[in-house]
Amino acid sequence: MISNVIPKLLPEFKGSVSIIKSSRNRLDTVTQWGEEWPGCDRFTPSECWALRKGHQHLSNEYGIQTFCSHWIEKPQCQTLCIPLLAQGETIGVLTFIMDESVPIDEYRHIWSAIADEVGLTLANIQLRDNLREQAIRDPLTGLFNRRYMLEALEQAHSRSERKGHSIAILMIDLDHFKLFNDNFGHEAGDYVLKATAQVFKDSLRQEDIACRYGGEEFCIVLPDTNENQASLIAERIVKAMSSLELSMNKLSLGTVTASIGIAVFPDNAVTMDDTIRAADEALYLAKENGRNRTEISNTQNIENSRNEKKDQAPEIKDA
Ligand code: GH3
Ligand code: MG
Ligand code: MG
Repeated sequence: MISNVIPKLLPEFKGSVSIIKSSRNRLDTVTQWGEEWPGCDRFTPSECWALRKGHQHLSNEYGIQTFCSHWIEKPQCQTLCIPLLAQGETIGVLTFIMDESVPIDEYRHIWSAIADEVGLTLANIQLRDNLREQAIRDPLTGLFNRRYMLEALEQAHSRSERKGHSIAILMIDLDHFKLFNDNFGHEAGDYVLKATAQVFKDSLRQEDIACRYGGEEFCIVLPDTNENQASLIAERIVKAMSSLELSMNKLSLGTVTASIGIAVFPDNAVTMDDTIRAADEALYLAKENGRNRTEISNTQNIENSRNEKKDQAPEIKDA
């Protein structure tokens, strides 16, 4: 929008907007207008006089030519850089080039107003994006949180009903994680949770939704995935987890394994809630069958396991 609107207000100016990265050591040029832009796509704050001075910089103010270093070649015209500010913080720089013949004093009030508006608008968009990210992600692992996953699952559900596709759910729980925490401490435990999230990111497609369901439990939604495909993905994750060589501060932490329960909608259940429940029951089965493994939801398996449990339970005798 910026690159469409500004040329209408300042037709004799070519321009660009560069935004400071959150690390604050680099700017990326995110949009430009006019013919080929002679500026760098990336530069550091110290390469721009406006950012060094903290206010706008015109290349030939008072008859002295001083160009910034973010030009690929020294421009044959005037240049103007204006810091983009919002709530006292610099978020980027608005850069213009124009012919020496342009009567710049006539435009000063326009470019100042544009810079104020662009700075505030971009800061609002960044703030809204940050708040949204905070609302939908787990801060430790960067995975989606449970609330977001349930919302995304609803959308995936209506898409799958329209198209007749299946959705697979993986419920994942780290094995003997309490013992791991007891042995190596909570910080090492947190490190493993982050490493687990990385395993998911490496094993999944863009459209899959990996979420931290709670503590050391995770849930992965695999849209348009059948039982065989889900099983392959789950096996890949179990294998990747068991072969992760964990170490922190040069101390080897051994390995942490995971158990996974798999259920597929609509094969294993008629609602999404019941599919999650079926994956959870399959997960319990994976734990009972020795951990570090996957189990596919199968009503018969689960019934057998329930019955075995009942048989093992001590009889309650009358007083
Ligand atoms: P199982 O194989 O049966 O799942 O055994 P487990 O020890 O993993 O299961 P349990 O539910 O007894 O323990 C879960 C542990 O996960 C307990 C808790 O200390 C740990 N945990 C949960 N959330 C976090 C977290 O955010 N950070 C760390 N470091 N540990 C966590
Ligand atoms: Mg566990
Ligand atoms: Mg658990």
